[in-house]
Amino acid sequence: MKRSLKSVILFTVSAILISGFNLFVSGQELFIPALSSGLKVHLADRYFEVFPKIVPADKETTIQIISRYETFPKPEHTYRFVYTPVGRYAHITGWIKAVAEEIIPQNNVFEIKKFFESEQEHIIRLEEVNSEGKAKEIGTFHFYSLKPDLFVLRPFKGDIHMHSFRSDGREAPGYVVGACRRAGLDFMALTDHRNYSASIETIELFKDLPIDLKIFPGEEVHPPDNPVHFISFGATEGITELYRDDDSVYRKEVQAIMEKLGQLPEDVDRFQYASSVWAFQKIRERGGLGIFAHPYWRPGNANYISYALVDYIFENRIFDALELISGFGWSELQTVDVNNLQVAKYLEAKSKGYKIPVVGISDSHGCEVSDMFGRYYTICFASSVELPELIKAIKEEMSVAVETPAGRLPRAYGPFRLVNYSHFLLRYVLPLHDEMCFEEGRLMLEYAGANAEVIEQLKLLRGQVEKYYNQVWAK
Ligand SMILES: [Zn+2]
Ligand SMILES: [Zn+2]
Repeated sequence: MKRSLKSVILFTVSAILISGFNLFVSGQELFIPALSSGLKVHLADRYFEVFPKIVPADKETTIQIISRYETFPKPEHTYRFVYTPVGRYAHITGWIKAVAEEIIPQNNVFEIKKFFESEQEHIIRLEEVNSEGKAKEIGTFHFYSLKPDLFVLRPFKGDIHMHSFRSDGREAPGYVVGACRRAGLDFMALTDHRNYSASIETIELFKDLPIDLKIFPGEEVHPPDNPVHFISFGATEGITELYRDDDSVYRKEVQAIMEKLGQLPEDVDRFQYASSVWAFQKIRERGGLGIFAHPYWRPGNANYISYALVDYIFENRIFDALELISGFGWSELQTVDVNNLQVAKYLEAKSKGYKIPVVGISDSHGCEVSDMFGRYYTICFASSVELPELIKAIKEEMSVAVETPAGRLPRAYGPFRLVNYSHFLLRYVLPLHDEMCFEEGRLMLEYAGANAEVIEQLKLLRGQVEKYYNQVWAK
């Protein structure tokens, strides 16, 4: 298609005008400061309490929008709202387009009863109309209806790959744990290189403290003569101990695996592959989750392991979970976008019908010196934040990997259903959660820094997220 110069200019100018207009309309959102997790609290969630926000699908539920700082109704004003089901599932309700409905607030409460059809997000925009008929938006409120299987689960944020100075990280193990809570995580595991005991140290340090962060054991595993990195999450023992002082048994066991392998594709190192099978077996035998770490990490100019080996590990899926999103900061991503490659590989494997459980992690080596810490994590959809439930959730593909590159746009990766739901959670539920966690984390950092006086304050904070979630989810 050929266009005249004049029409191109006109088109460009109008495009600028349109985008400029959008910028103006949504402009106030741009200036909301981010939390340390990278998330931002939606404006309406600052000024109003909205309960419940997560409701059962295909049922009528009454939601309440409670004004906390401004009094409603005002004299000589009327109120109306516009309801929209985002996914347009409206077979039962017959919804066709957004229509304003009258509402009368009472004692600062806007109460709305709706049939929330199917599994989707729902938006309610509240407006105030003055005596001259001029309308003003009060706020836009977001809800999500869920089918029963997902409705009974809760989202738990965790990072299960990070380092302290027990290996090559910057801070003390206790510091890393406190910083995890400060960044809004519900569970974590310290995974120092060749060091399981550092994770046990973190559990011991906080074990008598009244806190809601769950701390689990972990380790980054590097078996002899195998360059592949593994994360052992939740295992009852260290893997490194199996060869630290004497690797003869390790070598014998890997040899036995090699003998049973048969023909391997070209460029797949037989020992490396057999040793990888061995590592995942040992982690699993100890009740842990074996994670294939950063398959497309490129230190220097070459991928850290051969592409052929990555391909073969994917074809055979010897891992329990894939590190889909790894902690790579904004500047590192300019050279090689490891996460983009990992996501592409994941999608290709999924298109073959493979089951690929995923996690997102920070691989942080310093909580205060990177834009990854607290901003690369996993959301597990589980019935509780206990270890067996979390491992089960990940293995059953009930988790998503989240990245917030440069601390900006939160992106979730995994099954579409969970990603869509996570979009809602990351904007309208988790920001307040993260903010609540911040104070507990700050006090935990104090405690790790030898200030035991904070225990009384921690007691007061205990259970705040649970209380919040009890209001967010419909009874
Ligand atoms: Zn590694
Ligand atoms: Zn690491």
